[in-house]
Amino acid sequence: MSTAPDPRRCPLCGQPNDCAMQRQRDTGEPQPPCWCTTVRFERVVLERIPTEARRLACVCRACATAATPAPPSA
Ligand SMILES: [Zn+2]
Repeated sequence: MSTAPDPRRCPLCGQPNDCAMQRQRDTGEPQPPCWCTTVRFERVVLERIPTEARRLACVCRACATAATPAPPSA
């Protein structure tokens, strides 16, 4: 038995994902562009998201950046 993923919570750590798009849906008020639009999600992060939560729940900023390797210093 599985429950529907909470779109407000990170499917990886369960913390609030602070998604601006979801907040806009909740409050009905325009929000600034979500932080996730400025972050490049690594494939390894996306692959860790349970299938049922994909496209439904955003990953939080901490999880999105934790798996991101530091950019190579040129
Ligand atoms: Zn998280």
